[in-house]
Amino acid sequence: MSVHYQPIVDQRDRTVIGGESLVRWNDPVQGFISPGIFIPLAEKVGLIDQITYLVLDNAITMISENKIMFSERYISVNVSRSLILRGDFINEVESRLKYHYLASERLVFEITEEAIFNDDEFLTLRAHLDRLSRLGIRIAVDDFGTGYSGLDFITQYPFDIIKIDRVFVNNLSNGHTIQPLLEAIHTLSQTLNMSVIVEGVEDPSQLRVLHELGFYNIQGFYFSKPIPKQDFLEYVQSSQSSQLQKLQPVLN
Ligand code: C2E
Ligand code: CA
Repeated sequence: MSVHYQPIVDQRDRTVIGGESLVRWNDPVQGFISPGIFIPLAEKVGLIDQITYLVLDNAITMISENKIMFSERYISVNVSRSLILRGDFINEVESRLKYHYLASERLVFEITEEAIFNDDEFLTLRAHLDRLSRLGIRIAVDDFGTGYSGLDFITQYPFDIIKIDRVFVNNLSNGHTIQPLLEAIHTLSQTLNMSVIVEGVEDPSQLRVLHELGFYNIQGFYFSKPIPKQDFLEYVQSSQSSQLQKLQPVLN
């Protein structure tokens, strides 16, 4: 298994504000197997914790080895619902980050609400998220707008980031019925002081509509597919250099 990273870009100046870690499994016999298939299996057979630690360790290493590059950027890690509710997982995260104070502040955990949390689960979730926040880790609500992760969920905890699912973006090109909904999400995110990332942006027309609606943080194939670590670092580097080039006349 290996980890790829997908850049998250501020479309106003095309700087990379962060990246999402996405695990990859290249089986010598079966070839590339999609995480959409093996992650649910890993959860069933009890391997999801090992996979998540692998992804987390990769993220911590990358941040620690590139402190200047990550002084303001972040790397996000997907954490399954089953795992975020486990006390031993939170203990393990705390112990792995014990000597990496700077890295924890550059980490985001993405969680989904695939099914409604009952009252007990929600209390546990809240306690665990509070412990992660004390470490400096920020929390994003993933796949917002699909499944159960709706308005009710995001108003129950001060999440830092909302990631709008790509189904919304797919529908942008099929007419404008989705736009009032996006406008409402935008207003809500401002009221709740949460930043927003829109996922799954593939073409410039989608980018333009999102810009008009005030959505600037973008993740999608338009900017880049998930890529290996070295390519990701080069991508960030080149976005920095083109920023510097633009600033040069001003600096001179
Ligand atoms: P996700 O968390 O919603 O991740 C985003 C998925 O959307 C990724 O698929 C990414 O490649 C894809 N994507 C990004 N931009 C575009 C776009 O413009 N167009 C299209 N068509 N797709 C785009 P990927 O890498 O196949 O991952 C699928 C799912 O597997 C992830 O969905 C996540 O739920 C899960 N996953 C991946 N890595 C991990 C992991 O380390 N831990 C856990 N628990 N789940 C993971
Ligand atoms: Ca995600």
